[in-house]
Amino acid sequence: MIEQRHTPVTLEETAVQELAARTRGTLLRPGDVGYEQARAVYNGMINKRPALIACCVDVADVIASVNFAREHQLALAVRGGGHNGPGLGTCDDGLVIDLSSMKGIRVDPVARTVRVEGGCTWGEVDHATHPFGLATPSGLISTTGVGGLTLGGGIGYLARTCGLTIDNLLGVDMVLADGSFVTANSNDHADLFWAVRGGGGNFGVVTSFLFRLHSISTVYGGPMLWPIAQVRDVMKFWRDFILQAPEEINGWFGFVTVPPAPPFPEQFHLQKMCVIVWCYSGALEQAEEAFQPIRASIPPTVDFAGPIPWSVLQSLFDALYPKGLQWYWKTDFFTDLSDKAIELYLKYGAQLPTMFSTMHLYPINGAVHHVGASDTAFSFREANFAEVIVGVDPDPANNERMIGWARDYWLALHPYSSGGGYINMMMDEGTDSVQAAYRDNYARLAQIKARYDPGNLFHVNQNIKPAR
Ligand SMILES: Cc1cc2nc3c(=O)[nH]c(=O)nc-3n(C[C@H](O)[C@H](O)[C@H](O)COP(=O)(O)OP(=O)(O)OC[C@H]3O[C@@H](n4cnc5c(N)ncnc54)[C@H](O)[C@@H]3O)c2cc1C
Repeated sequence: MIEQRHTPVTLEETAVQELAARTRGTLLRPGDVGYEQARAVYNGMINKRPALIACCVDVADVIASVNFAREHQLALAVRGGGHNGPGLGTCDDGLVIDLSSMKGIRVDPVARTVRVEGGCTWGEVDHATHPFGLATPSGLISTTGVGGLTLGGGIGYLARTCGLTIDNLLGVDMVLADGSFVTANSNDHADLFWAVRGGGGNFGVVTSFLFRLHSISTVYGGPMLWPIAQVRDVMKFWRDFILQAPEEINGWFGFVTVPPAPPFPEQFHLQKMCVIVWCYSGALEQAEEAFQPIRASIPPTVDFAGPIPWSVLQSLFDALYPKGLQWYWKTDFFTDLSDKAIELYLKYGAQLPTMFSTMHLYPINGAVHHVGASDTAFSFREANFAEVIVGVDPDPANNERMIGWARDYWLALHPYSSGGGYINMMMDEGTDSVQAAYRDNYARLAQIKARYDPGNLFHVNQNIKPAR
């Protein structure tokens, strides 16, 4: 099999017209009304100009677009929610399959499952499932796409309780590189189903996902904040607490700059503080009791934790992070957080370079550990914490400063890490980082890639090269 050329080619007008005739969704080219808006992704640092954007509305559109990209040797990018840090939902000169019009969601309250089309965001899924008192684990910002977040693993508020998003994935419908359509689950194309649970967009276009739902409706959660001066105590308490807490308690740790707006008390506006954002999904009448030891051991300076609808918790930070800001990401997994590492967290956390920049540590023990390291493509099952350091700001003039901060922070902590990071929270760092993220699972992923996409048509992602 010859590897795709992926070089810009001049497209013949008749070929483009043919594709337009074969698709029901809009086909956009530079200069078309709507092209500039359609090419923009979430990260304002990304500025790519595809030759064609196929706004697919159904599986037939996706099949036609995949075939077109392969036949014309075009670079092919697939966009779900467009939130990817390095902008892997778009490309220069090639064809973008934009799934954002594929918004179908069907809840089956009896089977407790939800079927979600590839262009949905998590907010849309929550909207559909919440009236049934049901939810599936996702992330922390509801505008994030279901597609990319799921295919990379999915770390969120419910990780300790229900596992990663992929641990609740029951099956996918996919269009493969040869244009064929398959359903992959634990019975059919089980190898493919193993690979898409963590292996990213390497294996084809997922046109719909089937998720297991849980009885999650109103939870007890929200942020608690402490001054930077107390970080050492708070972080050590949180580390020890979360390593042995009941699985219905989730709480991620972060460094933040308090936004200058309600509901934050004015005296803390623009102060650097540390935060734990909780999500307890056990019996609500026992919540106060569950939080009593936390409030007694490290009394919070600002305490917003209380009963909150799941869909509200999920969208609590959406307004703070609108589309178009500059984002630079670094990531690692950790099994232990030594006191020495905590000192380094404190050092760099106190130097957040801009108001939007932050560092989060997500606990990924509990239910995430119920699944083995080789049971899905997501390898770091023994890790207890996922770290993400993000430089964020509206003004590109601050990029150099915030990128420098993020790199220095990451470099200082990396020696204490497990050696690889979360593919959904890295930039375009190349093959070594991708291999480090998958460790022993990489060779198996490369074999499956060779079976389903030997020409590496789907290469605009954290790319797994087909085994030779
Ligand atoms: C503000 C913000 C908050 C975040 N919070 C979390 C979080 O809490 N937890 C977490 O785990 N991650 C989180 N992330 C990271 C997120 O998981 C990744 O950015 C992810 O890539 C976003 O998916 P998307 O569909 O929106 O992105 P896109 O840019 O559309 O796609 C990302 C990648 O996935 C592929 N892809 C997307 N959909 C499909 C599909 N249907 N079929 C095949 N390939 C597809 C694309 O080709 C691309 O390679 C966050 C990101 C942002 C910007």
